[in-house]
Amino acid sequence: MTRTLEIRNPRTGANDYVITPLDRQALQHRCEALRAAQPAWLARGIEGRAKAMLDLCDAVDRHYDAILAALCADTGRHEWSVNEIEGLKGITRMRCATAAEALAEASGQSSDPTLRFQQQHVPYELVGIISPWNYPLILCMIDAITALLAGSAVAIKPSEVTPRFIKPFRQAIQEVDYLRDVLDVFEGDGETGAMIVDLTDTLVFTGSVRTGRKVQEHAARQFKTVFLELGGSDPAVVLDSAEPDFAAEIIVRGSVENSGQLCCAIERVYVQRGVYDAVCKRVVARVEALTMNMDDIRQGELGPIIFARQADILRDQLADAVAKGAKVLTGGKIREHGGGLWCEPTVLVDVTQDMAIMRDETFGPIIPIMAFDTEEEAVRLANDTEFGLSAAVIGDEAKAIALGSRINAGGMWINDFDTMGGVGARAEKTAFGCSGLGGTRYGYGGFRRFLRKKAIVIR
Ligand code: NAD
Repeated sequence: MTRTLEIRNPRTGANDYVITPLDRQALQHRCEALRAAQPAWLARGIEGRAKAMLDLCDAVDRHYDAILAALCADTGRHEWSVNEIEGLKGITRMRCATAAEALAEASGQSSDPTLRFQQQHVPYELVGIISPWNYPLILCMIDAITALLAGSAVAIKPSEVTPRFIKPFRQAIQEVDYLRDVLDVFEGDGETGAMIVDLTDTLVFTGSVRTGRKVQEHAARQFKTVFLELGGSDPAVVLDSAEPDFAAEIIVRGSVENSGQLCCAIERVYVQRGVYDAVCKRVVARVEALTMNMDDIRQGELGPIIFARQADILRDQLADAVAKGAKVLTGGKIREHGGGLWCEPTVLVDVTQDMAIMRDETFGPIIPIMAFDTEEEAVRLANDTEFGLSAAVIGDEAKAIALGSRINAGGMWINDFDTMGGVGARAEKTAFGCSGLGGTRYGYGGFRRFLRKKAIVIR
């Protein structure tokens, strides 16, 4: 029986879109077609594969308006939808420019004549990608680009919360010779995601810790390697040596991007006592200058909370913090407007580590600030978490690097915070703790994920 899913519009709250996930048989059929096309894709060599990926950028440009309109409808925000499309093209071009070198490096030594031994690197035939709703386009493609360049075919299952972009994006893919045979994007929910685990050889999952655990368990039963890119509760530490307004700019930018709906947002702020009052004051001033895009999608830095259940989580976290003694300096409410839900950009002080807002992932534009005295204390507080995605340290550079080196996180921003693409072509980062599993998505190491080693020993 055909299953349909109704999709909520984050600006109106209305279910105004429907998807029809494929059943197992149809999905299996499509995955088998991808798998069958993979040897020819691999045989095209890195130049041929990179050319197809660059052709995809041109195809995306031809479908730009439709993809942008769909992303705007999916997420209720405009600027970051533009950034996603530009980010996709930027990352694709960067990966294509470095893929040959990265693959050669990932392949390492190719032969040893004295041993009559050859080391080969064989890409997985079919890589599965399961992605979340906060950046629908970029997060479904970020690992797909690498896997395709490495020589695999790819089956993607984006989030059912934000599926409108899939149709125009598939049209762009369909216009690219060779690529259309090895890349497909499937509408569906967790049930479809579970089937993708079954039908692919390895998987990159980006999403929550809770679902990541399920996916990992499911894949482990089939002895499949899974790469997990999960949530975070990133700390920012501001040292006495920091200039308060400079620190406030970084904190606010790192906290409210995409209305805080990003894995590596700054979600906990620890400020050394000497600059605490000044930093709080400037953070509040900057937050109060922000506007929400309730009336016009193009006006205002903050879009709606994309997933309605996330707004409930934020409401509960704010109530828990206030009940335990936190003081709201600005914001603090979830506002309903025309059926959509917006979280006011919020600054909290008098927070404690036992509050849900400090322990759990927030995923909203909420900035809890706590004072500390010694650097020892800052390290302890920053590391008092199950997560370890990224962190920021602001202040005297040498001291900030020394302190940052002691914080358990894969990405460390010193006197900056850049959430999208800022790690460049070479920097590699591993998620610590519950924030992920399976090496680095970024840098040349991203290619290694998709290459299996084969030793050929000749007598
Ligand atoms: P989610 O875990 O609810 O869903 C992610 C995906 O998993 C969706 O496509 C969903 O359909 C699918 N899914 C659900 N059940 C499944 C199952 N049993 N088997 C297979 N697939 C299944 O996550 P979300 O709410 O969409 O996204 C928000 C989370 O993603 C946050 O925790 C955020 O931090 C995290 N995230 C992490 C990164 C990163 O790079 N580390 C980036 C963005 C978002």
